[in-house]
Amino acid sequence: MVLDKIKSVYIHIPFCKNICAYCDFCKLFYNDSLVDRYLAILEKEVKTRYKNELIKTVYVGGGSPSCLNSKQLKKLFDIIKIFRLDKDIEFTFECNISNLNKRLLQILKDNGVNRLSIGVESFQKKILDNIGRKEIPSFKKINLAKEYFDNINIDLIFGSNNETFLDLKKDLDCFLKLDVKHISIYSLIIEDKTILKINNYVESSSDLNRKMYDYIRKVLSCNGYIQYEISNFCKKGYQSRHNLTYWNNNMYYGFGLSSSGFIDNNYRYTNTRSMKKYLNGEYVSFDERLSLNELMENEMILSLRKIRGISKKVFYDKYGKNIKEVFDVRYLKENKNYFYIPKKYLYVSNYILSDFVDLENK
Ligand code: SF4
Repeated sequence: MVLDKIKSVYIHIPFCKNICAYCDFCKLFYNDSLVDRYLAILEKEVKTRYKNELIKTVYVGGGSPSCLNSKQLKKLFDIIKIFRLDKDIEFTFECNISNLNKRLLQILKDNGVNRLSIGVESFQKKILDNIGRKEIPSFKKINLAKEYFDNINIDLIFGSNNETFLDLKKDLDCFLKLDVKHISIYSLIIEDKTILKINNYVESSSDLNRKMYDYIRKVLSCNGYIQYEISNFCKKGYQSRHNLTYWNNNMYYGFGLSSSGFIDNNYRYTNTRSMKKYLNGEYVSFDERLSLNELMENEMILSLRKIRGISKKVFYDKYGKNIKEVFDVRYLKENKNYFYIPKKYLYVSNYILSDFVDLENK
């Protein structure tokens, strides 16, 4: 089995100044001294695990890493300097719209960030109220970010329970007007332990969500966006190289609370979600060595998220087997080089992907 070297790093900054009702990411309220302690331990974790590989993509996510103060941002960028960074690096930083200002944008630019991911979600007060986000995103702020960065992703959420097609259409009009390079879309899912779940929020019908998903795909593709993954669209040449690391089942480091990584050809780990344990240096809460079957399963499940599908050659080069020898591919389509999920099944891709797990018992 031949896997590529580690080229990607994810860093989790779990602090937010406002907690959104739908959020099940690992996050906690911003606390000045806690952030300082967290960054000190993050530095230790990086120094413990990193083996000096040349890094080609860095993604700082959260939480809201943009809520750190200038001194904390400096500390974070000093930690990132520990890595040997490629000249052609893709360096993404997640920004909360409420933190966007000239000072922050200049700091990010001065420290090598070249891609922003901004959690816009919606421009409709009704939708933002539904998901517990306080600030209505302003065009002005995103246009300001565009003065500093060419490569910007914005997230769109859809499917909150009183959203109509007209609301969605208005949001899409706004997103298109912004003319950013990358758009990620998410349907609202009510996860356990979120404020929405605790408040017994009722999900909208999956039938309506599916129609909305198909509508978004149609509108974005008619307006020059290429869908390259189930939830991701971009202008030509602006695919997220970092996220492709995951979808190509390549190895990567994850640092920080709750982050996960895939290293040493078959070792997957997930860090603790307990701040107390993390600050004590007990980073990992779960880890495992994957068997060959599990590696091949992951290869299928992750690679098939890409619209292009899974490369027959890459699979053979990695595992020395043809996909058809290992998996039942009756629900997939194929061309000369790839197996892929037919477009009409993209919305229900999870059902198709679940067919590729548990090889041991097949
Ligand atoms: S959605 Fe983003 S900003 Fe809102 S609480 Fe979660 S991590 Fe923080």
